[in-house]
Amino acid sequence: MLTLAIESTAHTFGASVINSKGKILSDIRDMYQTEKEGLEPRKVADHHENIGDTVILEAIKKAKIKIGDIKLISFSQGPGLPLSLVEGMKLSKEFSKKFSIPLIGVNHICAHLEIGKLMTKAKNPVFVFVSGANSQIIAHEGGKYRIFGECLSIALGNALDKFGRALGLGFPAGPKIESLAKLGKKYVELPYTVKGMDVEFSGIVTHAINLFKKGESKEDLCYSLQETMFAMLVEVTERALAHCDKNEVLLIGGVAANQRLCEMLKIMCKERKAKFYPVPVKYSGDHAAMIGWQGILEYKKRRIEKNIDIKPGWRIDQVKTVWIK
Ligand code: AMP
Ligand code: MG
Repeated sequence: MLTLAIESTAHTFGASVINSKGKILSDIRDMYQTEKEGLEPRKVADHHENIGDTVILEAIKKAKIKIGDIKLISFSQGPGLPLSLVEGMKLSKEFSKKFSIPLIGVNHICAHLEIGKLMTKAKNPVFVFVSGANSQIIAHEGGKYRIFGECLSIALGNALDKFGRALGLGFPAGPKIESLAKLGKKYVELPYTVKGMDVEFSGIVTHAINLFKKGESKEDLCYSLQETMFAMLVEVTERALAHCDKNEVLLIGGVAANQRLCEMLKIMCKERKAKFYPVPVKYSGDHAAMIGWQGILEYKKRRIEKNIDIKPGWRIDQVKTVWIK
């Protein structure tokens, strides 16, 4: 069964064609980027509106299929920026209506988890989900995905981007911070804030920005920021492993591309005799193939709503995981 998928929760508009065995026939992405400033929701939505059609048609062309071969359309229903979500839903609905193809809306975070499982063969891991808007430690327990720890204010990606903005690095800043951190020579003390199973990143970023304004080196600050924030995440991940009695860790989300974060989690896993799986970097951030895979997993297992709408604040623990035995 061929599925056409559409992703538009935040910065990236993506379209993909994927089959029911998980083979990705095409995966086209167009990311909103800036030189200096951060993400502005209205500008992001305009970007999606301008390029949406082209991205979808390119995905179909690249997959070398006919529109008639598509049996399902799957789109990101939430969580995400409302204005961006609306653009993806509008195009999905138009396409579904025009060609009479069934439409399914899926949870974007679930899609990150499931593509991670598909690509790494991890079975029942503790997920470390670190993206622009979310940082959550998740595991499937008692019949659903549950959040065991999360960020109390801003997420890890957001925290890195915020610090990057103060340095004039533009969006996304994460990769540039990773490069600068490699040049850091000295660890600068920053607040380490773990509260129970939750982590708090916003105070650290404010502190680091103040130190930057006082003349502290940006390379040392990038290095110290990464070391501190990543250590906090590793601490709660280790506790989640013990609490859930699991022996696999799967790292997913845009910040999973960071090699230092991978290294730190890998060391912790080795010490606990757990397996560490990072999602392949290409599939760490937002893309539509994962939305297609999630649609395939859910289709036929659940009732499809008639009046589908966006769900900007949809939490993963509200999703019925009907595809998991
Ligand atoms: P997502 O929302 O899952 O697409 O992830 C986007 C976030 O990942 C942005 O906040 C980026 O700054 C961040 N990111 C991407 N690559 C890296 C990297 N190599 N190191 C740290 N953060 C990254
Ligand atoms: Mg995402």
